[in-house]
Amino acid sequence: MAVVEELTGREAVIQRLRDVGLRVTGPRLEVLTVLAAGGHLDVEAITTTARERLGTLTSQAVYEMLRHFQETGLVSKFDRPGLPAVFEISGPVHQHALCVVCGRVENVDATAPKPPRGALPAWQVEDAEIVFKGLCPGCRAEAPTA
Ligand SMILES: [Zn+2]
Ligand SMILES: [Zn+2]
Repeated sequence: MAVVEELTGREAVIQRLRDVGLRVTGPRLEVLTVLAAGGHLDVEAITTTARERLGTLTSQAVYEMLRHFQETGLVSKFDRPGLPAVFEISGPVHQHALCVVCGRVENVDATAPKPPRGALPAWQVEDAEIVFKGLCPGCRAEAPTA
């Protein structure tokens, strides 16, 4: 996975596209710029924001772009059960917190544990991730107190 740090500004975004060998097009530039602003966004949110500058842009086109961005390591995907996946600019390894009410996703600076010795005989474990689930501050404030 490509580590993208300090990816801000259009020049930096153009450079990132060139670094991974993707042709710089208006739509790619806009979509990656939206993601470079930070956060975890679903396809609809990305499409809506990028469309404001581009005029026309379909979510199908955004899906295609995100697929290329993922293949080249520019962008990472986070799956949310029962909700559309969210995408973010790839960065240093981190874990995620997921709000079980509104689906908000936040980065957590933590490392995933290795499986206990002998727990997965004959496996070659390549990756692990932790998802902390609960109520985000906003949903906590609205939750009825028992
Ligand atoms: Zn929430
Ligand atoms: Zn993240």
